[in-house]
Amino acid sequence: MSQFPCPHCKEAVYGYWDRYKAAKWFILVCQHCGKRACAHPIIIVLFYFFYVWDVVLFGYLTYLKESWVYFSTLVVIWLILDAFSVYIPLSALKSKPVRS
Ligand SMILES: [Zn+2]
Repeated sequence: MSQFPCPHCKEAVYGYWDRYKAAKWFILVCQHCGKRACAHPIIIVLFYFFYVWDVVLFGYLTYLKESWVYFSTLVVIWLILDAFSVYIPLSALKSKPVRS
């Protein structure tokens, strides 16, 4: 079920759930080579900007107009952002320094 390659060894080790967690700032560890990877942080920041924009704008409109249409729009945009967050490219992380 793994479909996405590791940025270090290029083996397909990550599934959709791993990519979803990576978009939520989790660090992934490759099962093949043991190296670490994360979703590209600048793109995650852009996604979080849109999450905040979605909640602030449509949350406010829901409160102001007392309409479920705006709340439905908030939920739909949130789900669309979650769906696209799976495709944020992974960045290779350096190994942790060994402490002596
Ligand atoms: Zn790997």
